[in-house]
Amino acid sequence: MNQPATVSEQFDAVVVGAGFSGLYMLRRLRQLGMSVRVFESADDVGGTWYWNRYPGARCDIPTTDYAYSFDPELEEAWTWSEKYATQPEILDYLRFVADRYGLRSDVEFSTAVASASWDEQEGRWRITTDRGDEVSCRYFIMASGCLSVPKSPDIEGADRFEGQVYFTSRWPHEGVDFTGQRVAVIGTGSSGIQSIPLIARQASQLTVFQRTPNFSIPAHNGPASADRLTQLAEDREGYRHAARWSRGGAPGELTDILGITASGEVRRQRFEAAWEQGELFGILGVFADQLVNPASNDIVAGMIREKIRSTVNDPGTAEALSPKDHYFGTKRPCLDTGYFETYNLPHVRLVDLRTQPITTVTRTGIDTASESFDFDAIVYATGFDAMTGALAAVDATGRDGASLNEKWAAGPSTYLGLMTAGFPNLFMITGPGSPSVLSNMTVSIEQHVDWIADCLAHMTAESLDTIEPTALAESGWGQHVRDCGAITLYPTANSWYMGANVPGKPRVFLPYVGGVNAYRQACDDVVSRGYLGFRMTGQGGERCRDGVIRSMQPDVAMVLEIMAGMGLPPLETLPVADARAFMAATAAVRPPAPEVGEVTDGVMRGPGGDLPYRLYRPAEPGGPHPVVVYFHGGGWVLGDLDSDDPLCRDLCARSGVVIVSVNYRHAPEARFPAAALDAFAAVQWVAANAASLGAIPGQVAVAGWSAGANIAAVACQLARDAGGPAISGQLLISPVVDSDMTRPSYAENGDGYVLTTALMRWFWDHYADPADRGDPRVAAIRGDLHGLPPACIVTADFDPLRDEGLAYARALKAAGTPAGHIRARGHTHTSLTMVGVVISGAPVRAEIAEALRGLVGPVAAAADALTESAAAG
Ligand code: NAP
Repeated sequence: MNQPATVSEQFDAVVVGAGFSGLYMLRRLRQLGMSVRVFESADDVGGTWYWNRYPGARCDIPTTDYAYSFDPELEEAWTWSEKYATQPEILDYLRFVADRYGLRSDVEFSTAVASASWDEQEGRWRITTDRGDEVSCRYFIMASGCLSVPKSPDIEGADRFEGQVYFTSRWPHEGVDFTGQRVAVIGTGSSGIQSIPLIARQASQLTVFQRTPNFSIPAHNGPASADRLTQLAEDREGYRHAARWSRGGAPGELTDILGITASGEVRRQRFEAAWEQGELFGILGVFADQLVNPASNDIVAGMIREKIRSTVNDPGTAEALSPKDHYFGTKRPCLDTGYFETYNLPHVRLVDLRTQPITTVTRTGIDTASESFDFDAIVYATGFDAMTGALAAVDATGRDGASLNEKWAAGPSTYLGLMTAGFPNLFMITGPGSPSVLSNMTVSIEQHVDWIADCLAHMTAESLDTIEPTALAESGWGQHVRDCGAITLYPTANSWYMGANVPGKPRVFLPYVGGVNAYRQACDDVVSRGYLGFRMTGQGGERCRDGVIRSMQPDVAMVLEIMAGMGLPPLETLPVADARAFMAATAAVRPPAPEVGEVTDGVMRGPGGDLPYRLYRPAEPGGPHPVVVYFHGGGWVLGDLDSDDPLCRDLCARSGVVIVSVNYRHAPEARFPAAALDAFAAVQWVAANAASLGAIPGQVAVAGWSAGANIAAVACQLARDAGGPAISGQLLISPVVDSDMTRPSYAENGDGYVLTTALMRWFWDHYADPADRGDPRVAAIRGDLHGLPPACIVTADFDPLRDEGLAYARALKAAGTPAGHIRARGHTHTSLTMVGVVISGAPVRAEIAEALRGLVGPVAAAADALTESAAAG
């Protein structure tokens, strides 16, 4: 063991922890010529693999992938004996690595860092340890692991038990012999599920106390996968590259098969293949939509429950072991070897704490609400204070004496999971807000270590010595992390991913679920954009390019990426007929639209002939309902009743109003002002026929999207000028209200977000002569805006039309017309309307439906509702 460092020792960097991350970090820092001290609370290297020595402990990512990849010679020098290596083998590997690179000499073992405080004057961290060391360093790097602080047993009477007590996470080095003993295991997460079959082999009686049944699949352990070994042998670097740019950190095919649309045969075949493969990413990726769509998830979950029922002999026990309270994958699933089979042994019993909760641990055992048990030993497999526990364990004080634990009282806030504002030069490896525990940890660790080392090399080269994220960059990243989580089922579970396993811990979805590949790209983009969102200072001056690295909704970005990959011709390069055919073809492959009470098609009279309409009636009993006349989008050229059908259904179902979607005449066959005149005529017709449509007379509102919103807005002006009909409100979703293309959103969003500047020009050219483009019957913003119905205007961030929508809301208000605004954050012009495809659009449409309910009421109520929504916005 090394001598404790003296008070005066100064290092370039201090690293906390000598597990996978600390060891590699040390190596990289040394390569940069830095002096480093690693503090490790254990008496050897290994981190999680040092502590978790319980019987059956193994990795659950194949060892071909669960290893360092930074040195090809190291890879040649080590051969794993199994598909999933045991804890002793992985610990041996880490010892081998430490020895191979001579790393131990910089590690102070049996020493935990107690506190760290930033010395503003010196621009250094002062570190104290539990052994009384006090050292200083320029860079302080927490390599302390995501699952390293055990949760203290929150069970009444836990300290009363007089028999043997064991924690899977702090298992005795000499091992435990349970032969002939009556043993209790509390907890059925990965640690419990791995250890229970082996403890059952020795114990005379084993009682498992289960609070939540867990999904587990057989690991099918054995020799390493021949397929993976061949791939590695043939092209090691290619294999590692594929892992680094994969979703989870291990190479593998991603499917685009959806559970909800796959045939029964395909579902079964894909599930059984994943079951046989025995890998986490396989079973988590049976269907592309299983972690976002409850119905798809239920298919996989149901098949796993079937397997449990066919394995466990006693139907009551099988039922109790079958998880039903969370979606598959939203709590970390387990890989096991004979776990469910163990319950068929005569000396093994499951106690379901849902039916008989533990009341107390006693001197001799455990009492539940209905039974008393005596034991010789209790094993706690009760988990960890995950992701933030080890970071919180160091009392860190940053700029101006701010405490990290206070800053994070409502949940952690980081930039990229790497740093946090106010704590300069403090790095976290696989911190909250990075893929970490959702990925192959070794790949994520190497990525973080490399990013940090490259950053420090850059700073040294530029004579900079302090780095810290900006508040803007950090809050933007936090929003992105939440946005990614929100489109998945993860936040619905009481998991340790959510901090839900630790009483009092804030409920925040801790890891980044956007994928290892997307995350790596974000980190690389931050660097290539001049360390966007970081402030760096030093002799080389001060550098800060502030900004947010990802502000688009993740599913919107995904759709754009898929569209870009399809190499579609720009619409404006097509003849109109082809553009319309293309739109119809895309409409035909949409997922099923929401159900409403009734859909009927009809025809009304318009100024230039019949106008087809489609009426959507809500399912709610009662009625009549208020009515909204809706106009579809499509630049006055494209679109029809089918194109906006999902949006109309969605709005009808959410708002409970009757929607009459009207197809108007299109350009270039019928140019300006045909569409606007049709819109006005349609409003007149619906107002006159409200009663026969089953709607409330006198409560007619208008709505539209894009060019449809344009003619809806114009219809309101025409109705006011004509003295009727009375319109109670106008909902304008991403409206065209002006022909002026010089507003900043055209420059920012004019290319790459589906509706482009070129396409808008094409639309204008087809609809209106240049001389007409200032006419208020198309440039609504140039009309008289007094005395118009209350409006709700929806704008999308990545829309060329964003700024004219905002300008219209401002102009209406200036003219005394109530106008609320809903911002579709991170959306494009079209993404909000992609019902069932872009999940992040749903909450915005819920907000729109809420506003619509206000707009269809009596006019005064609509104005009140809008005032509230504007205040909220
Ligand atoms: P865990 O997944 O958090 O499981 C803890 C178990 O203890 C749960 O069943 C939990 O029930 C139960 N529990 C906690 N407090 C309890 C209480 N007061 N009364 C009754 N039951 C209680 O912890 P873990 O099994 O140690 O695994 C944690 C993570 O470590 C894993 O998810 C995995 O990421 C990693 N790990 C990996 C491996 C591997 O294969 N490589 C092995 C072990 C661990 P509730 O679910 O109701 O809270």
